[in-house]
Amino acid sequence: MKQLCILSDFDGTITQKDGIYSFIEAYAKGDWQKIEQDWAVGKIDSKECLTEEFKLVPKLSEELISYFIDTLEIDETFADFYNEITAKGIDFYIVSDGIDYFIKRILKKYNLNDINVISNHGEFRREFFEITFPNDYPECINNAGTCKCKVLSDLRKDYEKIIYIGDGVSDYCVADKADILYAKKRLLNYCVEKGIKHISYNDFSNIKINF
Ligand SMILES: [Mg+2]
Ligand SMILES: [Zn+2]
Repeated sequence: MKQLCILSDFDGTITQKDGIYSFIEAYAKGDWQKIEQDWAVGKIDSKECLTEEFKLVPKLSEELISYFIDTLEIDETFADFYNEITAKGIDFYIVSDGIDYFIKRILKKYNLNDINVISNHGEFRREFFEITFPNDYPECINNAGTCKCKVLSDLRKDYEKIIYIGDGVSDYCVADKADILYAKKRLLNYCVEKGIKHISYNDFSNIKINF
């Protein structure tokens, strides 16, 4: 049993803006907003949302994704934070309802490729970009592609204390299950509304780990 691990959301938490949303906004043709809206009100789950939205991107290719990723930036305080906790021997995991293909490319761009990533999986199979959900968990209240509450409960077996850092809807199911929760944006509003204990933050420089 280890003492502590830190889990963090990716899109909008480590990246400055939501990468998947921006990608779809830039390249999808057709009514992707309707799909996004159906997801926001709970008519469809994030698996269907992702799958359907990516179908609306014509000529989806590795080149297109790489080109797009070069335009994305991460929180400029993240690398220092990550290096500091790693130096202290604290385990760190990215837990994302986005797609590993995007996440790994962004991390590589910043020389952060050794970070553990738990997320949905995307890969090119000939001309087709296939998205699969190896961390799906049907019992989750979010019914997300990657269920963060399930990931956290699995890690409970290995760690005494778990810190979670997030910003949005995909973090709702895990919010009341972390020992310490850092929240911003929509997740912050959600915590206030639901009376969930949290610490608000703006970027990773605000997150102080005493270990
Ligand atoms: Mg997010
Ligand atoms: Zn969940």
